[in-house]
Amino acid sequence: MRTRFAPSPTGPLHLGHAYSAILAHDEARARNGVFLLRMEDTDMERCRAEWEALIVEDLSWLGLTWDEEILRQSDKIDIYNARLETLGESGLLYPCSCTRGDIRAALAAPQEGVVHNIYPGTCRGRTMASRKPGDALRLDLSRALEALSGHVLRFVETGPAHEGSHIVDPEQARRTIGDVVLGRKGEDIVAYFLASAFDDADQAITHVIRGEDLFEFTAIQVILQHLFGLPTPIYHHHRLIRDENGKRLAKRDDARAIRKYREDGVTPDDIRRSLGLE
Ligand code: GLU
Repeated sequence: MRTRFAPSPTGPLHLGHAYSAILAHDEARARNGVFLLRMEDTDMERCRAEWEALIVEDLSWLGLTWDEEILRQSDKIDIYNARLETLGESGLLYPCSCTRGDIRAALAAPQEGVVHNIYPGTCRGRTMASRKPGDALRLDLSRALEALSGHVLRFVETGPAHEGSHIVDPEQARRTIGDVVLGRKGEDIVAYFLASAFDDADQAITHVIRGEDLFEFTAIQVILQHLFGLPTPIYHHHRLIRDENGKRLAKRDDARAIRKYREDGVTPDDIRRSLGLE
């Protein structure tokens, strides 16, 4: 059993992250498995070394240990892009020059409540040969699903909200995922869910334990796993930690930053207790 905690170092660790990290860590320890820490820091504009250092400090303070060196996605962008290029050669990608803002939003790590817009397909049909500097690469989802028509796109979920075996339905994927942006070479950026799928495979992750807010990305990750010949791990999407108004905690919720609790004299055991993890 190999699992991981994969934060994006764009802000302080808050209670919600602590919950995710402790859950994965404890599960690995209970099952004699391996727990890894991975920095999903491909969004160069928002990720900072100071946040990474604080995340490491907070996790250590919580008593968590990881079994291998920290993997930094920013070190692997050339590798991700090289893999993406090979998919381009198979005719399943097309270059896209639609607004830069749209493309950036698609590439950034997921934010609270942001479900990507379904792309209307303006650039679909363009050939890779027509690619211009600054163009993003989009997945031609219909073609990709056709190429995978002999595959069963199945994943197993053990989290409370969606427990069971799931099959990705092509019709639903067309409606809810669409032609997603996978990367843009000139700016060395790659879609968060692609880098994450590559690394789950590279790190031989057998169990992905993460927040319920990421459940919606599982279908596209399963499609990508099949396109790239990667294994599909078992998924566990856990409940989200919410504030007193029922709102999901976000990085800007500094009041619930682990650092703040530390400064206020709260102990790691208090944190575990407050999260129902004793
Ligand atoms: N980096 C993502 C985040 O901080 C988590 C990705 C994952 O666990 O698959 O929201």
